[in-house]
Amino acid sequence: MDKPDSVTSSESARPSLWRRYLEISLIWKLSVALVLGIVAGLIFGPGISVIQPLGDVFLRLLMMLVMPLILLTLIAGVASVSPKTLGRIGGKAFVYYLVTTAFAMSIGIGLALLMSPGAGLDMPAGDEDEGETAPPLSEVLVDIVPENIFGALAEGQVLAVMFFALCAGVALAYLQDSSDERLAGIAADIRRFVDGGVELVFLIIRGVLQYSPIGVFALIAVVVGETGSDALLPLLQLTGSVYAGIFVQILVYALMLLVFRAPVIRFFREAKEPMLTAFVTRSSGGTLPVSTQAAERLGVKKGVYSFTLPLGSTINMDGTAIYVGAATVFVANVTGTELSLTQIATVAAVGVLASIGTAGVPGAGLIMLTMAVTAAGLPMAPVALVAGIDAILDMGRTMCNVTGDLAGTRMIAKTEPGMLEEPRDPPAGKLEDSTQDGRKADDL
Ligand code: ASP
Repeated sequence: MDKPDSVTSSESARPSLWRRYLEISLIWKLSVALVLGIVAGLIFGPGISVIQPLGDVFLRLLMMLVMPLILLTLIAGVASVSPKTLGRIGGKAFVYYLVTTAFAMSIGIGLALLMSPGAGLDMPAGDEDEGETAPPLSEVLVDIVPENIFGALAEGQVLAVMFFALCAGVALAYLQDSSDERLAGIAADIRRFVDGGVELVFLIIRGVLQYSPIGVFALIAVVVGETGSDALLPLLQLTGSVYAGIFVQILVYALMLLVFRAPVIRFFREAKEPMLTAFVTRSSGGTLPVSTQAAERLGVKKGVYSFTLPLGSTINMDGTAIYVGAATVFVANVTGTELSLTQIATVAAVGVLASIGTAGVPGAGLIMLTMAVTAAGLPMAPVALVAGIDAILDMGRTMCNVTGDLAGTRMIAKTEPGMLEEPRDPPAGKLEDSTQDGRKADDL
């Protein structure tokens, strides 16, 4: 719609509301939205659910970008590194993710044994046979290879899409080096197309981020309004144990970053946005677009983050491991069961293995909890109590999961020659900044 001249001239004298909105830093807008959302949830209670669609739109906008983002950044990233480097990065990521998840599981179990959540609550054991069982590892591994790449994209199967993107990226790298000029030319065209696609998705992400404060407000208000303090109080000790574990785990990341000589404060300054997004969306997968932007600002090259971040969003679940550990101890406590060492080891093993095959979506941890409780032979009834406050626990554990992915990505980049660049990007979340980025990309 054309604007009358008078409006246009007055706009040039005074910045428009939209421009002023863009100028406020994103993290500030998100923080205000978070606080206002909590207040609104407390005031309006369950009635606040009418604004759920505003939050759903935010989640859908993020999810809409996840699959194109993984596919395009991974093809571009893989095509820019040698297969040897890629194998090394993959090996490091896998070891980092498994070790930190196992460590997190011990923190969760250890802290819960110390804090004894649920020790005062008594609950009858109830029926014992309704839990989930973990899929066999062989099935998880076979599912990594997609039967149909379009099906995998449509169903949001992260590992399967990563597998295809890896194959495509490696093939593209070989084509680029081909001595046949025609093939090398085609490969260069494909590469330009993929790089252009990445820039396009990045620009959309930055636009979506401008909507994120509204989404954050709605999502947090609904969780607070629906959970309420009545559900929270009896389970305060469990919430305390899980959040204490998350705090310890984040301290561990900070220490590890120090060991890798990374500027910790700068890391957390850039990580704030994905951490907050994870907190309210409760989805590591959905937070990927925001984590990717943070990795860029931290100076990590696509060759690393395009691989480590999506991989982390499905196999690295440190916060979830803390939760599974602590909640299993809670289940044992409320039913008056003394956990044996074998049961504790079973819970730890199931938790770590199940995290590999579980996607980073809201509530995934609750399913893992039922697997762990079933494997340990504990009664299932108290899990219903935990389910009542699952959203509150999911917020913290997803935030921890995403922080772990980003910290690992930063550390791995540091150990790979040429994969970490001194950050040059301007502050996050400004559309005009992204336009500059776009121009830079075009100039290349
Ligand atoms: N929501 C978590 C995530 O996306 C998984 C969980 O439920 O613990 O990482």
